[in-house]
Amino acid sequence: MNRLSALMVLIVSAAACSSGPPEQQIVNDAARALGGRDRVMAVRTIVIEGEGTNGNLGQDMTPEATGQRFNVTDYKRAIDLTVGQSKTEQTRTPNFAYFQGQQPQKQVFGIAGDIAYNVAANGTPTRAPNAVAKDRRAELFHHPITIVRAALDPAAKLTNPRTAGKERVVEVAAANGLAFTLAIDDATHLPTRVVSMTDNPNLGDVAIETSFADYQDVNGLKLPARLTTKTDNYTTADIRVSKQSVDGDTGNLRAPEPVAAAPPVEGPPPAAVTVEEVAKGVWFLAGQSHHSVVVEFSDHLILIEAPQNDTRALAVIAKARELRPNKPLTHVVNTHHHFDHSGGVRAAVSEGLAVITQKANAQFFQDAIKRPHTIVPDALAKNPKPLKLDVADEGMELADSSRTVQLYHIEGNPHGDAMLMAYLPKERILVEVDAFSPGAAVQPYAANLLENITKRNLRVDRIVPLHGTIAPFSDLVKTQQPAKTTN
Ligand SMILES: [Zn+2]
Ligand SMILES: [Zn+2]
Repeated sequence: MNRLSALMVLIVSAAACSSGPPEQQIVNDAARALGGRDRVMAVRTIVIEGEGTNGNLGQDMTPEATGQRFNVTDYKRAIDLTVGQSKTEQTRTPNFAYFQGQQPQKQVFGIAGDIAYNVAANGTPTRAPNAVAKDRRAELFHHPITIVRAALDPAAKLTNPRTAGKERVVEVAAANGLAFTLAIDDATHLPTRVVSMTDNPNLGDVAIETSFADYQDVNGLKLPARLTTKTDNYTTADIRVSKQSVDGDTGNLRAPEPVAAAPPVEGPPPAAVTVEEVAKGVWFLAGQSHHSVVVEFSDHLILIEAPQNDTRALAVIAKARELRPNKPLTHVVNTHHHFDHSGGVRAAVSEGLAVITQKANAQFFQDAIKRPHTIVPDALAKNPKPLKLDVADEGMELADSSRTVQLYHIEGNPHGDAMLMAYLPKERILVEVDAFSPGAAVQPYAANLLENITKRNLRVDRIVPLHGTIAPFSDLVKTQQPAKTTN
């Protein structure tokens, strides 16, 4: 061997041992920073305890607001990396007027293989829909150890290495079919973020990003003591770790037996729409948790609320059209932006309906109609239509010779800043949602609804709520009377 080729061999082997291609080098550097490839690959379990906050995604006071939080205590997350199982237990307490009241709520949820489950406060476990299971499977890799292990797997595909600011970034197509973006700190080489894409029925294609900070030494590894997760631009969880261990006891992480035996939940349940004519030409469309109202005018119909999702909204729209087949359904009135009440608005637009909402929701719907839904194409993605939007500020009247519907902004309600209610003066009917839910145990928003009715001198006989059952006005008044004590 001459001197030159000996030198070449040296250079080649030095390069191979230190790095490999740049995409592999990012992963190798991360593994080394976390404690070394062998140490990372040997981890069997991680148990994280701490506290922090959860956001209130899609349910805050306005579409842009982020002030509502649940304070999270007794947070414990156990991950078994050997079998792909994880369970989270936490207690969350709202820092705002919450519809279930202010008391702390215990939550338990997990993923075991392909099965996601939630355990209710009374201990009853239920299987979560497949879409939730997919998100939770991805969430298992929103941790430095799990994502770097997935990236070290020779079956993983690493692509598009790049430098962005103080981070080096690589795309990871994991052997299990899931895809992630991994970013590491250019100086320390510790993972800074993991991003995965998912479908959100309201927001469409969204990035879920978990950032890692405050690394600390744990059993020969570096682990983050702060994990912050965002969906799109909204912070959904921010956890400060007080204690964490590696290879400790996780307890039982298997799916509870009734859940493991339950069939997969493919999607939202099929829509069941009941029809009740509450006044001539006014129909209450109920049947499940979220209701709508159809109102007939002389030459058209309007719908109040396209809730939840495509399935519910399209079924309600079809039912409305059956009621008066010769009159076009022209508008949908949206009561407020909350995701469970606005989740069918894109479907309504795909059916050619114009949208009426409170002014503060206008930008939200303009954006919602434009957002890409490529991961799970919805009705509007399959049948694009432009948005026709009418906004009500303090109020708006929809009237012709046969009918009057007055829309009013519910001012100052602690449930939301941009809510509309609909009043039919001739029929003395008030249509509202979430401000008063007949039959609910706590009514934190009812006093304000009563104030809004009183100050506008509305004469209401019946409340047609979009949750629960139709109630006399006196039921709303009763929520403000002190409860009688019985011995
Ligand atoms: Zn709401
Ligand atoms: Zn609601």
